Amino acid sequence: MAFKDFGARFMSRVMAYYLQQQSRELHILVATSGDTGGAVALGFYQVPGIQVTILYPSGKVSPVQELQLTGLGKNIRALEVEGSFDDCQRLVKEAFLDEDLNRRYFLSSANSINIARLIPQAFYYIHAVAQLRRQGDDRPVVFSVPSGNFGNLTAGLIARRMGVPVGHLVASTNINDVVPEYLEQGVFRPRASRQTLSNAMDVGNPSNFARMLDLFHSDARAMAAAITGYRFSDAQTLAAMEDLYDETGYLMCPHTAVAYLGLGRYLDQFPARAVSGVFLATAHPCKFPEVYSEEIRQSIAKPGQLQGLEGRSKQATIMSTRYADFKDWFTGHSSERS
Ligand SMILES: *Cc1c(COP(=O)(O)O)cnc(C)c1O
Repeated sequence: MAFKDFGARFMSRVMAYYLQQQSRELHILVATSGDTGGAVALGFYQVPGIQVTILYPSGKVSPVQELQLTGLGKNIRALEVEGSFDDCQRLVKEAFLDEDLNRRYFLSSANSINIARLIPQAFYYIHAVAQLRRQGDDRPVVFSVPSGNFGNLTAGLIARRMGVPVGHLVASTNINDVVPEYLEQGVFRPRASRQTLSNAMDVGNPSNFARMLDLFHSDARAMAAAITGYRFSDAQTLAAMEDLYDETGYLMCPHTAVAYLGLGRYLDQFPARAVSGVFLATAHPCKFPEVYSEEIRQSIAKPGQLQGLEGRSKQATIMSTRYADFKDWFTGHSSERS
């Protein structure tokens, strides 16, 4: 129920393929604010030779997201951390830097810094352009991408490098706007993230920005010629979700709404509609019930995928924010390299 599922599942199968030749077990460690963990859990579920440990902040993920993280069991283990997403991230980073732990265990990450998650996402763009062309629409295609770590947008840049006619890109963000600011001013100023309704995009130092810079040879003007950045407030996001729902019955998640707003603003420059616009939808609205009015919340149809999860019970281990506690638990519950 999120675009990350596609990349995570591809990555899990690639890893399993290369693990076949080895006898050691691979440990995936991942910190999540909600969506990444669900995609990784479902993508790696029952993949042989791989154990997954997901760290999520207690009380800060939605009920559907929590069920995706904690309901599967088997090779998917959830740690409910008594702290923030940043605490989860810090524990994972400390583990990757811990020489003793890395000597004893074969560790890997599963976030969008991993190229195996970006390559499959490039196919979203190919698929969208192909659908338009099949409908006889030959106009240049503008894509608006709701962005946090900019993995999805970088996948669009990769698609373009592969020769897909991806036209202009719109980098749509919430108030965590370091990339729109860079596109306007040519200066990159990473900073602490601020909390918003579109919380999967609350990123203050996007991990794929380095890749974007590389693709444009660090030329800010060249990047700005290909990508336009816009930022939107929570109030604008809420209004967009409600307006589109009232007009058409189509309900967007708050992240998707940011992309919808960005596309609208960009297309305003082309009243004659000389270009075709696509905004990327990134998650199912049922994951974010708390952002909608009571009336809209009642109307969200439960997707079939949820039925498989609903009978399951939450299995999670409560964890403090201290690295020593995490390491104790991990070494007591994981098999070492052979
Ligand atoms: C991760 C995520 C995003 C942001 O994607 P990036 O590739 O990090 O830019 C947007 N919306 C949702 C729902 C997400 O889970």
